[in-house]
Amino acid sequence: MRSVALGNKRLIDYVEVIGEPEYEALRALGASVAGTRVRHVNATAYGGGVAEILQNLVPLLRDVGVDASWSVLEAPAPFYDVTKKLHNSLQGMAIDVSDEEKRLYLEVQKDNAAGVGHVDVVLAHDPQAVALRHFSPETRARWVWRCHIDTTTAYDPSWSLLRPYVEEHDAAIFTMPQFVRPDLRLSKILIQKPTIDPNSPKNRRLPDAEAREVVARFGVDPDRPLLLQVSRFDPWKDPLGVIDAYRLVKAEIPTVQLVMIGSLADDDPEGMEYLRRTQAHAGEDPDVKLLTNLEGVKDREVNAFQCVAAVVVQKSLREGFGLVVAEALWKGVPVVGGAVGGIPTQIIDGETGFLVSSVEDCARRCLQLLRDPALRQRMGEVGREHVRKHFLITRDLRDQLELARELTRGGVTTAG
Ligand code: UDP
Repeated sequence: MRSVALGNKRLIDYVEVIGEPEYEALRALGASVAGTRVRHVNATAYGGGVAEILQNLVPLLRDVGVDASWSVLEAPAPFYDVTKKLHNSLQGMAIDVSDEEKRLYLEVQKDNAAGVGHVDVVLAHDPQAVALRHFSPETRARWVWRCHIDTTTAYDPSWSLLRPYVEEHDAAIFTMPQFVRPDLRLSKILIQKPTIDPNSPKNRRLPDAEAREVVARFGVDPDRPLLLQVSRFDPWKDPLGVIDAYRLVKAEIPTVQLVMIGSLADDDPEGMEYLRRTQAHAGEDPDVKLLTNLEGVKDREVNAFQCVAAVVVQKSLREGFGLVVAEALWKGVPVVGGAVGGIPTQIIDGETGFLVSSVEDCARRCLQLLRDPALRQRMGEVGREHVRKHFLITRDLRDQLELARELTRGGVTTAG
């Protein structure tokens, strides 16, 4: 297991967004669990929503007094092929994992388990880390499994593989109630929505001119309408469907442009292959741009594109939460998104954007928004307030602090 270097964050820098009373309440809550050793473990330090959350949340936990840390598993590349299969099958694909693959899957977690060390609370994220508890010699810690994926229609053999390991935890956290499998036996099951950091380079306010300059640097005209999807290149994000929807829009509004930004995450072996497929589907249209972190599209650039976009699309077919939806809404941009997983908790249909279930619907709603700047503005404002109320990182911080307090009631363990 490898520990991830953390930046510094100060809760005081959030006071303007959350107000003084909430700031004080969070400080007091932090003081009540000061010194508690909390370790988050996941598969990757870069790419995807979990890494995005942890890089912001862990430093804030530290700022309020928790002895928080973040580690990632050390694993050979074939491990990620297996966990991607598990991920896909837990989201509903009928994919079987061979005995050999199961052996590798468990062996890697066994090898990493000793690295958890002496802590009071462990948060193990997603299928990649679910068996750490089983193999860890750290029996005095409290263990929480945090599932970020949409398990509504989980493929039974994969869920049956995971379930006994999940049930060894003291608690599990899911994003939506429908993600909790009915046969899960666990005394503490919590529903918590992920959040975004309003002060991160991805979400802090960018001056208009700066955002336009960034976008122009990548060959996109900030004066023409822009549709944007920011997502790993992954079948669940339906990039091919986004291109099809764009084409229907283009037939009506020829000046429209489409940008698809997709980072290639460390733990996502499918990414490159799916990027190629998307590229082939896009063909030679100069108004479609596929950009990745390899071209220098990082947090600030994603921020700029989200600010300049007229409409953000998140046409997922399955989605744990979809942080990108909250990111766009926070910038006052309406989102047209798939009516799946955690998206409907963010897109209130007709208020902060539109929920869609087909390419045609998606195109129709994009057209409606592109033709109606006043509607975009109105939805953008409601969207930003919706995120302020429910999906800012300080809410996650509060949830984490309350959980740590509850789990360690009766005192934290002593080191050694
Ligand atoms: N992201 C990014 N660059 C990209 C693609 C995605 O920075 O090229 C970020 C995106 O802004 C969001 C996260 O990765 O913060 C993706 O989280 P989400 O919950 O939307 O999807 P996941 O990848 O976890 O399925």
